[in-house]
Amino acid sequence: MSLLETIQRSFQSSESETSSIVVVGTVAFDSIETPFGKAERIIGGTGAYISLVASYFTQNINLVSVVGGDFPKSHLKMLNDRGVNTEGVQIRENEKSFFWQGKYHLDMNTRDTLVTDLNVLATFDPVLPDGYKSGDFLMLGNLTPAIQISVIKRMKKRPKLIVMDTMNFWMKHTPKELAEVFTMVDVLVINDAEARELTHEYSLVKAAKKILQMGPSYLIIKKGEHGALLFHESNVFFAPALPLEEVFDPTGAGDSFAGGFIGYLAKTNDISYDNMKRAVIYGSAMASFCVEKFGTERLTELTEDDIEERVNDFVDLVQFDIALVD
Ligand code: AMP
Repeated sequence: MSLLETIQRSFQSSESETSSIVVVGTVAFDSIETPFGKAERIIGGTGAYISLVASYFTQNINLVSVVGGDFPKSHLKMLNDRGVNTEGVQIRENEKSFFWQGKYHLDMNTRDTLVTDLNVLATFDPVLPDGYKSGDFLMLGNLTPAIQISVIKRMKKRPKLIVMDTMNFWMKHTPKELAEVFTMVDVLVINDAEARELTHEYSLVKAAKKILQMGPSYLIIKKGEHGALLFHESNVFFAPALPLEEVFDPTGAGDSFAGGFIGYLAKTNDISYDNMKRAVIYGSAMASFCVEKFGTERLTELTEDDIEERVNDFVDLVQFDIALVD
């Protein structure tokens, strides 16, 4: 069976085999400016992007987060309509939601964070409803490491797989707690700049070796429009990013990658290294959709056919025949 057939067959596998995912992350207001336009106070946050994307793979998603009384109920309903359980999203009526504002440079690869108002997040103590505590997969979106730790500790049994995202902000401000989460997870997802900052190594291969000694058994290094690398023991797998004609807003691309990655693993219920390679392709495909419109817009209108077609594009992109000379 070809890689493409294996990928397609597993995407079409029956719903009953899929596992549950607990997603922890921010649910936020984002204000975004790119060279192509502006959007004010639209729905964003790592938890929102991850669960929205994962909902294309399984309908058993349990979100843990916090919002203020200013957060429109219609945004939460949009997540519910996509099959995301928001029972674990606390609503603090008299407080304000997490707010993030960012502006992208002309190359769209770099962005400046203009505002990060933690608001409700500053004192967030995650509460896991009973139905969440035996989740099969745990996805820790970029969030305070201390919160990531409490969620792991509050699960009744250790999930089959714990995946975490993080960012340079936590490397700088809470390095001790971050080091502790690393020892508790299976897969770490970060970008190339963060991997270099964490290890003080320019070579991503050297950086990966160091990071794999910090706790996780698998490491994914995202390289934006240059794809992603999956490291495990002495193995490396590379997934390209699709050269796209339209890139409007890269916000949430990293989270969409994470949502596609964990969603595919949960759907196929297979955490082998070979299946993780396929999950990296699905993550890359979902990230490629995310950037085509502002915020979460593109991620609310996809069909299974769109996703399969996009995955085919990835397979075509890297397929070539070569005759090896002895
Ligand atoms: P990404 O573009 O995938 O890195 O993620 C963008 C999302 O991260 C936005 O929707 C923001 O609301 C959210 N975000 C930005 N900064 C933080 C932070 N310090 N902690 C948690 N979430 C954040």
